[in-house]
Amino acid sequence: MKNLVIFGAPGSGKGTQSDLLVAKYGFKHISTGDVLRGEIKKGSELGQTAKSYIDKGQLIPDSLMIDILAATYDALCPCEGVIFDGFPRTIPQAEALKSMLAERHTQVAGMLELQVPNDMLMERLINRGKTSGRADDNEETIRKRLTVYEDQTKPLIAWYEKEGLRHAVKGYGALEEINAALCEVIDSL
Ligand code: ATP
Ligand code: MG
Repeated sequence: MKNLVIFGAPGSGKGTQSDLLVAKYGFKHISTGDVLRGEIKKGSELGQTAKSYIDKGQLIPDSLMIDILAATYDALCPCEGVIFDGFPRTIPQAEALKSMLAERHTQVAGMLELQVPNDMLMERLINRGKTSGRADDNEETIRKRLTVYEDQTKPLIAWYEKEGLRHAVKGYGALEEINAALCEVIDSL
């Protein structure tokens, strides 16, 4: 099994690149953002809770998010491999992922970091907001999400570096170029 974490700021292209990797390698894709938006659409209790955080640009509490992740994982695997997209977003989530996978006799093979300058992220997300219909793709909430990323998620770069798992890739330019850079890392793992 090759379990990969695709990492980057909001708007860094995690979802887009994950789709390309799924098509090439046949990995399962776990996007916690998609899982939560699915729950909101269904109108479940979990969806209602998630919405109250997402609309404010905040993170869902770790304990809840970790349970959701484990349930999603167990519904899909054992399998070829998983791309974790949007998880972990905090250090406790990274630690939980590590022990969850260890309990299942597997581990993260690599963390793929998409590097995109801040002004480009802002521009991409504002543009996406014009068509995505996502309540959190408006300028005020985007700013909040980028701050949350800086404060709570960015420390994971050093965490994965210490684990010897971090691989940084340039996250802008042609989609195919970014994809090729990611594939090169994956094939080396
Ligand atoms: P990208 O554009 O790169 O796909 P994103 O930040 O725009 O990333 P999602 O990953 O879809 O969007 O997440 C949307 C929202 O869902 C987050 O702002 C957060 O409120 C919630 N969320 C998603 N994953 C997590 C998580 N692991 N922990 C806590 N909250 C999460
Ligand atoms: Mg996404």
